[in-house]
Amino acid sequence: MYPEIYMDILNKCNARCKYCLTGQANRTGYSSRFPAYYMDVRTFDRLARHMLDHQIMTPDALFHIYNWYEPTLNPHLAGILNYMREHGLRVDMSTNAGRCMDFSGLGDCGHMESILFSMPGFSQSSYDRIHGFDFEQVKQNIRTTMKELRQRGFKGDAYINFHLYQFNLGEIYGAKAFADSVGLRLHSIFAYFNGSGEFEPYLRGTLSAEEMKDATREIFFGHLYELEKHAEKYLEQFVEPESITLSEFCNVIPGRGCNDESKVCSIFDLHSYEEVKAVYDSLAAKRGNDPIYRQIHLWAHSYKLSMNHLFGIPD
Ligand code: SF4
Repeated sequence: MYPEIYMDILNKCNARCKYCLTGQANRTGYSSRFPAYYMDVRTFDRLARHMLDHQIMTPDALFHIYNWYEPTLNPHLAGILNYMREHGLRVDMSTNAGRCMDFSGLGDCGHMESILFSMPGFSQSSYDRIHGFDFEQVKQNIRTTMKELRQRGFKGDAYINFHLYQFNLGEIYGAKAFADSVGLRLHSIFAYFNGSGEFEPYLRGTLSAEEMKDATREIFFGHLYELEKHAEKYLEQFVEPESITLSEFCNVIPGRGCNDESKVCSIFDLHSYEEVKAVYDSLAAKRGNDPIYRQIHLWAHSYKLSMNHLFGIPD
């Protein structure tokens, strides 16, 4: 049985992150082709029952309710979180804090294992470049969220995921002071191409000169030498529990690097752990042993490596 599920519970994000699949779609207007969809409690119940009845997931599975979209925009979020608590499911959530979720009706949050606030810097100018939000409002939203969750018994891991870009290095100490003031942990990572399509052309050397010019002014690449040189060590370090990745429409998707447009089949058409595993095994076989995919895997999982030590900040 799978112990972890990565999934979205809606199909919208309010941010415009330049190197993200959804952020790019927001910038170009592509995402406006898709009407907003918000998973409701009834649909989540159908999904959870299906995966429990067919022993696809463990009874206390951990749901990571984010992949490509912003969960706080879903008006049914409180209901879904309550459902998870009532049914012994665990939850991990990520938010850009562009707004607060609707806390009314939200019950005890003791089952929330973690909450992550992703930040593209710690200044209005960094927010203008990446998320496009009002920075002061983001800080206020983080404070409010933590206050509301703690009042409801949240005792999990709460942290800021600080994305390091070339333009925000000087801002990390401000982020650390803020994190301390709210009682959050700070985790810093090198920002990277996040499903926006540049990983593969970059590694194959076919990224356009224009895209390359842009990227080399904003994100970091030097750490790729280290990742590739000690690939075996990092691949071992990045091993994680078996998981299923679902889109907001309950479709199985190949992994966290894709959205519903890469759907393989509906989870409702699969009736056992073995059937789901066969889908993932067949996808892995199709990818074959192309070393590029190993490099992409390494780079994409580098978010697990904290860069705090570069700044003398404890993890
Ligand atoms: S990186 Fe996160 S916050 Fe930014 S556009 Fe993508 S999904 Fe939204």
